[in-house]
Amino acid sequence: MDELKSIIRDIPDFPKKGIIFKDITTLLADAKSYQRMIDLISHRYVGQHIDKVVGVEARGFIIGSALAYKLGAGVVLVRKPGKLPSETFSKTYDLEYGTDTLEIHTDAIKPGEKILIADDLLATGGTTAAVVDMVQKMGGEIVECCFMVELEFLDGKKRLPEGKVFSLLQF
Ligand code: 5GP
Repeated sequence: MDELKSIIRDIPDFPKKGIIFKDITTLLADAKSYQRMIDLISHRYVGQHIDKVVGVEARGFIIGSALAYKLGAGVVLVRKPGKLPSETFSKTYDLEYGTDTLEIHTDAIKPGEKILIADDLLATGGTTAAVVDMVQKMGGEIVECCFMVELEFLDGKKRLPEGKVFSLLQF
């Protein structure tokens, strides 16, 4: 894990002064690290029934789609406003650097479906809490929320369903 962590780089003052951004693009660009990261996360869910992996725009797509492929699940996109072509539900939420809105197709999840939510990084938990809310309103059952990276000092876990959060790398 230390090897994977060491490939992620810190970018000071991005996207604004005082924030140290964890840049995961260096890990994604390294073939062995990307494969290892997806293998390690997906291994946790092998043998479990998962209907769909919900990926959050944009880095969540990179993790979520690879996990879905490995697990034989479908992919559901959660996107920024105005990007999805059919009818959507939307949710406005607080995030580390202001507020944002996310959308999901109204027919993307059927009641009772088992859902894995995937994103690159858990910070304050606002983004994923919004996704959890949308998925649950549609009747989806959250198997877990999984992340490549968790910023533990921000305690984002406490905004998510108890016992249903997994992160591969912690800072
Ligand atoms: P949260 O809603 O948990 O505060 O923020 C998580 C969301 O913001 C994720 O979608 C994640 O992509 C993005 N994010 C926030 N901080 C960082 C960071 O330091 N590095 C990366 N890669 N993404 C971040």
